[in-house]
Amino acid sequence: MTLRTHGIIFYILISLSTFAAGAITITGSDAVIVIPDKANSWIRQSENTHAGYTGVIEASVGADEKAKAAILAEYFGKVTGQKPAIVNESDVPTGKIKIHVGMTCYVKKNVTGLSELIDDAFIIDTTNGQNIILAGATSWGTEFAVYEFLERYLDIRWLLPGPDGEDVPKAKTIAIQAERITQTPTFFSRLYSGIIRGDQMKWARRNRMHGQINFHHNFVNLFPLKKYGKKHPEFYPEKDGKRVVPEIGDIRWNICFSSQGVIDEAVKNICEYFKANPAAKSYSLGMNDSSLQCECAKCIACDAGKKTFLNENHLSDRYFKWANAVVERVLEKYPDKYFGMLAYHQFIEPPTKIKINEHIVPYFTYDRYRWVKDSAARQTDIKFTAEWAKAAPNLGWYDYFYGTPYAAPRVHFHKMAECYRFARDNNVSAMYGEAYPNFGEGPKLWLALKMQWDVDADVDVLLDDWYRRCVGEKAAGYLKEYFTMWEDIWATKIPDSPWWSDGGHYLAFYLPKYLEVITADDIDKTGELMEKVVANAKTEPQKKRAEALAKTFEYYQSTWELYTADQKSLNLGDPKKTTEAIGCIDRGVDLMEKADARYKMVKEEFEGDAILHQAISIDKMKEYTGTEWGSGWLWKSFDLASSGDARVLARLKSLAKEHSVAGVRKQADFMVKIAEGSLEKIDINGSFEKRDKSRPEGYTYWIKWGKGKISLSKDEVLEGETALLFEGIARGAAIGKLDIEPGSYAIACSYNCPEKVSKDAIVSISAKVLDKEGKELKKFDAVKIKPTEGKWSYIVNIIEVPEKAKMRDVTNMQLFIQADKFEPGEKIYFDQLKLYKL
Ligand SMILES: [Zn+2]
Repeated sequence: MTLRTHGIIFYILISLSTFAAGAITITGSDAVIVIPDKANSWIRQSENTHAGYTGVIEASVGADEKAKAAILAEYFGKVTGQKPAIVNESDVPTGKIKIHVGMTCYVKKNVTGLSELIDDAFIIDTTNGQNIILAGATSWGTEFAVYEFLERYLDIRWLLPGPDGEDVPKAKTIAIQAERITQTPTFFSRLYSGIIRGDQMKWARRNRMHGQINFHHNFVNLFPLKKYGKKHPEFYPEKDGKRVVPEIGDIRWNICFSSQGVIDEAVKNICEYFKANPAAKSYSLGMNDSSLQCECAKCIACDAGKKTFLNENHLSDRYFKWANAVVERVLEKYPDKYFGMLAYHQFIEPPTKIKINEHIVPYFTYDRYRWVKDSAARQTDIKFTAEWAKAAPNLGWYDYFYGTPYAAPRVHFHKMAECYRFARDNNVSAMYGEAYPNFGEGPKLWLALKMQWDVDADVDVLLDDWYRRCVGEKAAGYLKEYFTMWEDIWATKIPDSPWWSDGGHYLAFYLPKYLEVITADDIDKTGELMEKVVANAKTEPQKKRAEALAKTFEYYQSTWELYTADQKSLNLGDPKKTTEAIGCIDRGVDLMEKADARYKMVKEEFEGDAILHQAISIDKMKEYTGTEWGSGWLWKSFDLASSGDARVLARLKSLAKEHSVAGVRKQADFMVKIAEGSLEKIDINGSFEKRDKSRPEGYTYWIKWGKGKISLSKDEVLEGETALLFEGIARGAAIGKLDIEPGSYAIACSYNCPEKVSKDAIVSISAKVLDKEGKELKKFDAVKIKPTEGKWSYIVNIIEVPEKAKMRDVTNMQLFIQADKFEPGEKIYFDQLKLYKL
């Protein structure tokens, strides 16, 4: 058995249809579903051992087939109102049409070609009018034969997760074309992560998702610190000439690949794992999620001595030298096992001197949405996939497929199909994606799974089928137009936005900056199309699906509106008149009310719903949480409030006291308290009056690329005698250090750009907390603004200092006043950095 052969087989989707005369027409009561007698299950097992990737021994084959037969019976019942009985082969009644699920004796005796099936492949044979065959070489194959049968003859579609997501047409009888179908998936392993809910998992499985290779971060488990930290420090990386054994709980390290015993110990642990888990097909040799790598002389001697396209050291040779040695020895004992690894960070390029063992499946990590633009980014994927294909007989693709947190449907249907075909032609046999689905993307994940099963399928035929089945004939055209528009926006506008980058291996999914190039017109047009979808959906299930999709659009629309309105406040000068300041407050309150409603919609309506549920919590991705969107407009009034404008202050006070949205109350309350000076202020030398040579006492400077300088100055001062001057800073910060206790804090700082500055210039204020040894425990999100020019203005960040983070006591804090993208000579002064305890 060689992998290469299997590789070739995977690439061919055989769909042979031999048409015999006529079709069979059956009802639920004409047929019985026949499953093998228990005594036959051994034959299945012996066939499995021949099946290449599969080493899976199924302990309870009878029960397993019963479950698949039950799914078949259930849908017969849903469609025709009658469920066929499920019987063991030895109990088949006479006079019924038999639907065989799995390897019954009849199937083994009469169906040819079964021994050639591998993995998820199956045969459906309906040419004999009395015996219909649904059989795979493995349990998975049989299961997929059942799903294919249901889609093909009972016309079922699993469009979206949950009961509303499946389309089940009613019929009195089922017409079954006489034919023989053999299917083998293009990619033998098809897996998406972030599909957490049971109903979503079920949906994905019915659409043929089946991951088969473990490849994730795993050194923490292979070389547990608890077991080896003290006894074998040499297993851990050398840094600056010293072995550094990480502390227990730390995952930011990788092993020393060259140390004595590091192969033996891996072999021993992996063999123990397979002994305890005989059904496991693979073991992960994936690096930890860290770019910390060993610097010992032996490791370095293995390396290619160059940088990767990520501009990190190219270390794949040291890795594969170790991995090949480990795998060869494990295979002596377990010849059918496979080993996944992450082609990531320093291992993102293939080794230069080593051919990779065919039982190792490297997963090349890259954001394949980038195929939408003929760009350097796309060329990088093409080049390195081809290079990996030369080094690795079996290759995996790891994609950053994200649905959530994207706040506009990031669909790229046609380019996706194009890149999958390229993958098929370049040794890629396994697919994985970080999906975290957002079903506002409609058919995206469904189509991906269909194309991974059969990469030569017609994208437009599949999409048209999905639209029509989802919302009905009349609405389908509008739904198609809706997604075509989004596909176009993501293919043409967004790749030209500042959000896009050609560097790195994935795009910044955690930043919604791409929203800035989507126009009001785009939102209006797609919104109108979605309205038409809802208005034209006909049946109850179609209406439910249309309304769910419309709900996802509501989320996209409100996110776009709020985000762009919030951005506008950054580019706005402070109002000088009371009425203008009140206008800004009103605008801010209105936006914050809407932001609150958006947040609640996701928390209360989306969470827990099979279709609407967002796989990444809105609380987790801070840039998308959005509850502060609009607050920038409130702060526009602060200048007048702090100079004692009675009407502005009164308005803020009333908001602080009785507004219904907590975020509004909190911001307004805080503004009032600062304006009136009634908050507890912590002394941090924030007026920069106390000096330590050229710096304010308690502060250090950080200047990236050596561009520009930071100094104390008396030229522009808000209070006291000195302020901090940043001059021509491309990126730099003044960092204040202090002891801290847990609680809510506000960091406020005044700044002044006396002259005009670059349009890209940004001022930000942020903080980190540390433990007493100076180890960073948590970094807070920065508040970033485009600076106002010609006067002193404010920037404020509110943070919550926890008692503990990463299981350690928080004792210290660092404050960052930062400037970015100032051109040479451009000046910004900072004064009155204040830390308030709330
Ligand atoms: Zn080393």
